[in-house]
Amino acid sequence: MRHNYLCTYRCAERIGLMPFADTLLKFKAITGPKGYVDDAATLAPHLVEWRGLYQGRCAALLAPQTTQEVSDILRLAHETGTAIVPQGGNTGLVGGQIPFKGDEIILSLSRMKALRALDPLNNTLTVEAGMTLAEVQSHAREVGRLFPLSLASEGSCQIGGNLSTNAGGTAVLRYGNARDLVLGLEVVLADGRVLSSLKGLRKDNTGYDLKQLFLGSEGTLGIITAAVLKLFVEPKSIETAFVAVPSVEAAVDLLRLAEGQSGGLVSTFELVPRIGLEFIENHLPGASDPLAAPSPWYVLVEMTAGSASLGLDTLIEQFLSDALSRGLISDAAVAQSESQRQSLWQLRESLSEIQKHEGGSIKHDVSVPVSSMAAFIAKASAAVVAAMPGIRPVPFGHIGDGNVHFNLSQPVGMDKAAYLAHWDEMNAIVHAIVREMGGSISAEHGVGHMKRDEIAAIKSPVEMDLMRALKMALDPKNILNPGKVVDITSPR
Ligand code: FAD
Ligand code: ZN
Repeated sequence: MRHNYLCTYRCAERIGLMPFADTLLKFKAITGPKGYVDDAATLAPHLVEWRGLYQGRCAALLAPQTTQEVSDILRLAHETGTAIVPQGGNTGLVGGQIPFKGDEIILSLSRMKALRALDPLNNTLTVEAGMTLAEVQSHAREVGRLFPLSLASEGSCQIGGNLSTNAGGTAVLRYGNARDLVLGLEVVLADGRVLSSLKGLRKDNTGYDLKQLFLGSEGTLGIITAAVLKLFVEPKSIETAFVAVPSVEAAVDLLRLAEGQSGGLVSTFELVPRIGLEFIENHLPGASDPLAAPSPWYVLVEMTAGSASLGLDTLIEQFLSDALSRGLISDAAVAQSESQRQSLWQLRESLSEIQKHEGGSIKHDVSVPVSSMAAFIAKASAAVVAAMPGIRPVPFGHIGDGNVHFNLSQPVGMDKAAYLAHWDEMNAIVHAIVREMGGSISAEHGVGHMKRDEIAAIKSPVEMDLMRALKMALDPKNILNPGKVVDITSPR
């Protein structure tokens, strides 16, 4: 294996060549040569992320195979003050998984993907952190259960990454975020100690719920190595409809009607704007508008039931006809087969990716109360268009959770780099409206590197003090994903 002299040389400048080279050898001794990478070509894909927003640097990547190896790595990192950047499937969208300094080491859990236990009677699954989300879902299906977390990146993202980011996705409305789907965790702490709490208990009030500290902490407080996950009844009946709605207000009214009429069986309620559908028609081969006439907005609605005999097909037909008579929808296509269902889902799941074909896209992952969603989209759209005529808002996503991906495609014909130079300016406009409406500037993607300074400026001093205190208590040497989420080095 070729040694990466460039990285080692950069580190050497900072901390002295021989000591750091020795440390790297000690790390290599823990994982063995198969779990140690330092050649530039193999490291390269781990140093860039999906959107191409960041270019990272690092000394090496470690891929341990056991919790003991992770513990040994952390103990050595703690002793030597070596910074460790955990990386799962590298699908995170805020740069949290990217190392930015040449003396940082990536810790990849990709070789830890064992199914440790499956207990259908207890409705639990115990898996190691490196298992992909799609693999977790598939293990659940094998025993007739559902693991409901679902994201467009599920083929690549790892459950450890999902829990570390408290991922959301398309089934939050019914089943909650990732943190709601965890009963127990195994976590390696910054000094190498292992917090082993792989309990499959739904009730346990024996003191602080420590696992919640690590869920959503983006690798800054500990390394998640395994988890006990909650399973649910596998749906026997699924009805999926792509529905044209005249306005976002109508979409929200429709959500409440759907919930009321189905008795809580709505599992997905996702907003699709007309412009997003047009992007898909223009750039996704084989995709087409399933409805006859254009509509300003659409919603992908899915209802699921654990029993096949419930008559969900009749229920959704009745709901849609009621919605039509109330003027909440103008048309709807209901999937009649699994392949039609997949085609409707493809319209929603392609929305992120497809924007790349229309030039630069400035992103916002924001939430407001569901009742304020229509007002937010109207006000934020007007504000960005006023600031830059021709800019194209593409608000889409989890409207049922009050979470919209308020993306802004560049004006047609504008230079992409010149457009992207307005990223901070657009963020400032949109985030000001989000805050005014009592919302969050990071609904599901986290803070990472991208939003660290912004949250420090908008969270209350008490919140920031508590976050710093937790970081300092759990990682006093600041070796776990340093500089992400909260900065404990800069003066307050
Ligand atoms: P990574 O990107 O590798 O890491 C994310 C963070 O977790 C980093 O801070 C990293 O240091 C930390 N980390 C990773 N593994 C561990 C571990 N074992 N222990 C401790 N820390 C760790 N997100 C949503 O919430 N909802 C969506 O609907 C959604 N859709 C997406 C669609 C696309 C097409 C893409 C590309 C991304 C999407 N995401 C979505 C974002 C992303 O997929 C999620 O944040 C996902 O949970 C990240 O998992 P990962 O394994 O890729 O983690
Ligand atoms: Zn999302």
